[in-house]
Amino acid sequence: MIGSPNSRIFHLWYHPLYTDGIHVEARFPRERYKMLLERLGDSEQNDIMKIRKPAAISRESLLLAHDAKYVDGFLEGNLSEKEMRRIGLTPWTSRMIERTLCLTGGALEATIHAIESKGITGNMAGGTHHAHRSFGSGYCVFNDLAISALYAIEKLGIERVAILDLDVHQGDGTATILSEEKRALTISVHCEKNFPFRKSVSDYDLPIASLAGDELYLKTVREALEICLEFEPQLVLYQAGVDGLETDSLGKLNVTREGMRKRNQYVFEIMLANKIPTVVFMGGGYSKPISHTLDAFFDLFSDAAIWNNRWPRQ
Ligand SMILES: [Zn+2]
Repeated sequence: MIGSPNSRIFHLWYHPLYTDGIHVEARFPRERYKMLLERLGDSEQNDIMKIRKPAAISRESLLLAHDAKYVDGFLEGNLSEKEMRRIGLTPWTSRMIERTLCLTGGALEATIHAIESKGITGNMAGGTHHAHRSFGSGYCVFNDLAISALYAIEKLGIERVAILDLDVHQGDGTATILSEEKRALTISVHCEKNFPFRKSVSDYDLPIASLAGDELYLKTVREALEICLEFEPQLVLYQAGVDGLETDSLGKLNVTREGMRKRNQYVFEIMLANKIPTVVFMGGGYSKPISHTLDAFFDLFSDAAIWNNRWPRQ
């Protein structure tokens, strides 16, 4: 038992629709959410974690980062075949809309709670960084990072938000949506030869050659963290995709489980040292077998809980 009456509880948003809203025939490892929840529930860190159920995000919040035509097209089930194919996760279930709204709601609720509690929070899905202002792409419908950043700026008085994107794929949608927003800094560490093949321009892009391995990856992550701190953010949105793993089918970066764990620990340690509220967005993970992805996400969220518990009481 590592929890005690004085523990700081790590709040993690999750909804059964994260798995159940995706069709069983979709080319996507939908079971990862459900399986990860079970594993975290059985873990020692369960004592210092609270699973929270998100409500659907409002249309108004979606409009912070997206065009009304696209938002309404999705909400009314009127996207074209081509638009749906570009997003993927097809065939869509009848609960795809509800899933998307809950998933994006979870990100926003985690962001609000991170600011209020001045600690680390997380959403056990999302990090939907390939969604652009007027279209979705690469498993991403709405951009939860951009929405959360703009909500924090517009509604919660946050003056500087950093988006630290360490997924193996570039955060192209986040970069374009926030390109004119000086109060948000976008940093993307990614494999240079990987989706999206036409990259956007983030405030800072740190591309890495294929098959880099732990040493180069972690050196680049440290550079990204230095850039992040120089901005003096009041909030960090951490896209923590684990698709840089050596076992990942879409990855190509050759990072070990231990390397991925070190990456997360660097982030949490630096945010704790600088007392910066941090939200963990799950991001990509497509290992074959999927158990390797689950191991890395288990490390991610259990370490987030451990580091959150080390933050000083208010
Ligand atoms: Zn990815």
